[in-house]
Amino acid sequence: MKLGRFIVETHCHAQRHAAKIQQEDDFDYGDLAQKMMTAVPPKEAVDDTDVIIYDNSERLLRDMETYDVDMCVLLPGVFGFTNKINQQIIEENPGTFVAAAWPVQTMKAAQRGQEEWTIDAACEEMDEWLAKDGFRMIGEGIPYDPTVDEPMKWSERKDEIRRVFDVAADHDVPIRWHTGYVSGYGSGLNLFQNFPDWQDPTLASQLKAEYPEVPIIFDHGGMQATWREHHVDQCCQVAATHDDVYLEIGLYWADLLKKPMNDPNIKLEQLLWGNDWGASMPQVHQPGEHPPMYWDQVIHEGLPAHQIDYWGASLRQLQKYALERDLPQDDLNLILGGNAVRLFDLDVPDRRMFKQYIDV
Ligand SMILES: [Zn+2]
Repeated sequence: MKLGRFIVETHCHAQRHAAKIQQEDDFDYGDLAQKMMTAVPPKEAVDDTDVIIYDNSERLLRDMETYDVDMCVLLPGVFGFTNKINQQIIEENPGTFVAAAWPVQTMKAAQRGQEEWTIDAACEEMDEWLAKDGFRMIGEGIPYDPTVDEPMKWSERKDEIRRVFDVAADHDVPIRWHTGYVSGYGSGLNLFQNFPDWQDPTLASQLKAEYPEVPIIFDHGGMQATWREHHVDQCCQVAATHDDVYLEIGLYWADLLKKPMNDPNIKLEQLLWGNDWGASMPQVHQPGEHPPMYWDQVIHEGLPAHQIDYWGASLRQLQKYALERDLPQDDLNLILGGNAVRLFDLDVPDRRMFKQYIDV
C-alpha cells in the first residue's frame, strides 16, 4: 500500500559518479572527494579525468515506480553534479521534477585554479538558473569557496551568506541550509571544519532575523548520517522559533521523529520527506540497540557500487512511527508530500488532496 496519496522526495541526486578505481592500481583514494567535486560529464572528459558524472535518472525513475514516489526535488549537491543535467532530466520528464540552483561552474573553476572564487560570480550563476523553469530554491547548503583551507570567521562568512539570501529574496525562493555530519570515507571534507554554517545550524536564526521572508530548509534535519543527535536538537531549536524553517526527516529512525513531533512549537507543516536518494551511505543495523538503524559510510566495507535503497528504509521507519501513534492519514500526507507541494508551488492533479480548513 502506498503510504500517502502524493509523495515528494525533497532531497534527491539524480546524477552519479563513475571513478577509475578498478582500472588503476595507483588510484589515489584520499583524493576521491576532491576529484568528485571537479568531475565532468563524459563528453568533457580528458585522458587524465579520473571521475566522471552521469545522468542516473533511469534508476531513479524505476525506484519512483517501485515506491510510488510522485515527484522529486533534484539537487546538484557539493560533488560537481551539474544544473544542466538536472535541467535536461526535468525537461525529459514533464511534471516529475523540480530542482535547486547551485553555482556549480563557479565552484569547479575555483577548485581547478582556473578562476578565483567570488561570491559575485556564485550569485550571478544562481541568479541565471533561478530564472529558468523548474528551478525553485537554492542549495543544498549555502555555496562556499572550495579552496578555503582554514576555518572562516563567522562575520566574514555571514557577509557571503547575506548575498545568497539576497538572491533568494529576489526570486522569492527558499534556501537550503546543510546540517548533519558524515563519518567514514567522507570525513576528509574540509567544509565541515571550515564553514561555521555547515557546523552550527543555530546560526540560521541570525539570518532569519534579517530575512524574515526567506524560508530555510534544513537539509537532513540535522541527521545526515551517524547516530549523534546534537544537530537534530539544534535544528529543532531554530524550527521551534520560526514557522517557515523546515526539517527534512527522511533519514530519521522512527523514534527520532518524536523530537520535532512532540515539540508543541514545531508544526507538522514544517516537516518534509527529504532523504538523500542517489547518495552512497549504507544503513548501519544494530538490532536491540538505540538507534536500531542509522546511515553512515563504513570504511572497512569499501565503496558501495549498488544503488543504496533509501526510500524502502525510510518509508518503513515512518510507517513504524505512524502505526505506533495512530497518526492521522491527513497528517502523514502533509509530511510525505503536502508540505513540499505548498512550499515549492508544485503542480498537483488536485489541490484538495491535503488538509486545509476554511475559517467559519
Ligand atoms: Zn544531499
